[in-house]
Amino acid sequence: MPATMKAAVVRAFGQPLSIEQIPVPQPGPGEVLIKIMASGVCHTDLHAADGDWPVKPALPFVPGHEGTGIVAALGAGVTDLKEGDPVGLAWLHDACGRCEHCAGGWETLCERQHNSGYGVNGSFAEYAIGNAKYVAKLPSTEFAQLAPVLCAGVTTYKGIKETEARPGEWLAISGIGGLGHMAIQYAKAMGLHVVALDVSEDKLALARMVGADVAINATDPEVVSRVSTDTAGGAHGVLITAVSNQAFSQGIQLARRRGTIVLTGLPPGNFPVPIFDVVLKRLTIRGSIVGTRNDLNEALAFAADRKVFAQVHPTSLDRINDVFDALRKGAVHGRTVLQMS
Ligand code: NAD
Ligand code: ZN
Ligand code: ZN
Repeated sequence: MPATMKAAVVRAFGQPLSIEQIPVPQPGPGEVLIKIMASGVCHTDLHAADGDWPVKPALPFVPGHEGTGIVAALGAGVTDLKEGDPVGLAWLHDACGRCEHCAGGWETLCERQHNSGYGVNGSFAEYAIGNAKYVAKLPSTEFAQLAPVLCAGVTTYKGIKETEARPGEWLAISGIGGLGHMAIQYAKAMGLHVVALDVSEDKLALARMVGADVAINATDPEVVSRVSTDTAGGAHGVLITAVSNQAFSQGIQLARRRGTIVLTGLPPGNFPVPIFDVVLKRLTIRGSIVGTRNDLNEALAFAADRKVFAQVHPTSLDRINDVFDALRKGAVHGRTVLQMS
């Protein structure tokens, strides 16, 4: 094992990350050291590096929570993983395992959870620490292809389930970026009809390519009536992944009576909710945060079955600041994946 490793480090919010040599971490009891092969770059990593959210990570830190790689060393007491196993490092780094949420199969709501690339160092590095009970066992060694499933995949798969839309019903997906382009594929594999919305024509073309039945520009002044016509009354489920507060207001208008709008995008700030519409249409507005370990295993199984394919753009860790600039401009089509070696 080398003593040091290359990592992208956030030293100040809103500033370029610095590429540094830092010590390779040692796995503690119950932990594994992962040799990272690939890491997706999620818009959440950019929010983290910009300090966008009310709860900020402690500086300095290494972002990254779509890490895939192989187990390089075992901490004390780890018995169900061995060196060389392909594993994935997700946002849910670990949780307490005992609270009502953990015991109830909702470990994503644990108040004592830690998050990869936020509260603990993540996968924008050659090595990262994972908790043996929380890392995903990967179905193959297609590290770059599987990396986006670790967040974009599981988050949208869980979000779609949370809309409670049934096969044959309509799902509107707002925001066809890293998350949204995976969401379309999960939704189609789950038997839903999909209307995709984004502000960029390129993203709409990507949406059609990955299976959307209908793709509409969110800036079209007729967007609400067009969705209503195409879906014969509005979408049963609405999944909002867009990094835009306006998209959240628009999303509520896209829902059918008795529909459910699931919020997964995390732009900082608020959006107005029309009380009259929510009450009279009996709408449900629900937040959704990543997915549990079971959700992640299911999301990975779709990828193993070739039902979902991330549109992956490989690049190197040294280019992370360029990748962040492209994400800021909405210029990433699918997911950029950092390849470590
Ligand atoms: P991304 O930058 O790849 O995609 C965002 C997309 O939103 C882009 O395609 C952009 O063109 C589109 N967009 C911008 N304005 C829009 C509008 N008005 N209407 C429709 N589309 C619009 O980002 P991503 O990696 O897919 O992440 C999306 C968001 O989801 C981020 O805020 C991220 O932090 C959040 N996220 C949440 C969870 C969760 O568990 N809830 C998990 C992962 C990411
Ligand atoms: Zn993410
Ligand atoms: Zn807990």
